[in-house]
Amino acid sequence: MSRLSNMAVRDIETVIHPYTNLARHRETGPLILNEGRGIHLYDDKGKRYIEGLAGLWCTSLGYGNEELVEAAAQAMRKLSYTSIFSGKSHDSAIELSEKLKELAPCPTSKVLFGGSGSEANDMQIKLTWYMSNARGLPKKKKIISRQRAYHGVTIASASLTGLPWVHADFDLPIANILHTSCPHHYRFAEEGETEDQFTDRLAKDLDDLIQKEGPETVAAFIAEPIMGAGGVIIPPSSYFPKINAVLAKYDVRYIADEVICGFGRTGEWFGTTTMGMKPTSISMAKAITSAYFPMGAITIEEELYQAMLDESRKLGTFGHGFTYTAHPVGCAVALKTIEIYERDKTVEHVRQVAPVFEKRIAQFADHPLVGNARAKGLLGALELVADKKTKRAFDPKKAIGALCADILQENGLIVRAMGDAVAFCPPLVITADEINEMFDIVAKGLKILEERVL
Ligand code: PLP
Repeated sequence: MSRLSNMAVRDIETVIHPYTNLARHRETGPLILNEGRGIHLYDDKGKRYIEGLAGLWCTSLGYGNEELVEAAAQAMRKLSYTSIFSGKSHDSAIELSEKLKELAPCPTSKVLFGGSGSEANDMQIKLTWYMSNARGLPKKKKIISRQRAYHGVTIASASLTGLPWVHADFDLPIANILHTSCPHHYRFAEEGETEDQFTDRLAKDLDDLIQKEGPETVAAFIAEPIMGAGGVIIPPSSYFPKINAVLAKYDVRYIADEVICGFGRTGEWFGTTTMGMKPTSISMAKAITSAYFPMGAITIEEELYQAMLDESRKLGTFGHGFTYTAHPVGCAVALKTIEIYERDKTVEHVRQVAPVFEKRIAQFADHPLVGNARAKGLLGALELVADKKTKRAFDPKKAIGALCADILQENGLIVRAMGDAVAFCPPLVITADEINEMFDIVAKGLKILEERVL
């Protein structure tokens, strides 16, 4: 008899799971999670887990927040839907745009909504190209991203993503997308190279790439303040100031992908501020609604807006928009989410508990399996290595990160492995005691992992 439950078998026969080994899934079946409260999730057998990755870096206010449920219900009752095509609007779209303009860490003229982070970055590419054409610069189309970046999965945003498995056999990346070096000092610094020498080299790599391609062909640069799905890579503090200086020399749009870092994750409203970026525009999603409704957004700078106005005069319309652009329920939920962040001082709370999070992660640096332990705000990772001294990675066939995540899950903590890095990104409302509980499970899990692999 199959040890899989009836629902698990039905899942295997009907559901396609993103970022899952579909062949292995047929053997293991799903973890069915049907309920959430605060920072906890409950599976179909009633087992409780700490959600150590805030869903997919998104459930910042945790589960079962009645205020958000009520905001959504009220919005649905009042106006379940209107588009904002053809000049229509609604109060929540206006109020949310005003609020985002006020909060944005870069000069912002307008806000454009989408339904996800991928759509936000897709719109960034489209509008960058649109602006180049409006400015009479049709050759200015190349977008520079970085190796190990994660910007989404639509054809264009997957192309920006710098992870091989997002491109392989999908015939990606598309033309005009380039990738420069990744600011992971632990993994990519040369023997004896200091952080400062490393960031000098990376800034030079970017400058050389722009020169090689021809500055007149390079339209934009995009970067996450802290890389998430690439393995929680926190650039050295000198990195972005040097990147800013390179970009300032050229006529290049500078896009900060705030999809993970935005809305308090790093202890400031935006990771851009924490990491010293000077973007032209930001992409937002995830915590904008604390994942109670799918939503993405980008800020539009005045120069881009003027180019869009010119195009409307020329073409007769702005030829872009999703059915669910500025969905009234999404806008109402986002407004309530931001109201809660402000009222409950969520960003200050992150700053208060981050030292506990950072200290607990740092303590694992001595563990024989941990090559690098890193954290900023409530975002962190442990990078597992086969040899601490030489930084030798495990044989990828061992899938050590996934094995570690499985062990933690068995012990009541849900996290995600990004290659050999195990990432931590709990809901922002987590308390210091809950952080300690979470890392006690990690300590136990690493002991079990050690017994299995050493
Ligand atoms: N950008 C970043 C930094 C992300 O981490 C993600 C998703 O994890 C995306 C974009 C894509 O967002 P979505 O999955 O909502 O399309």
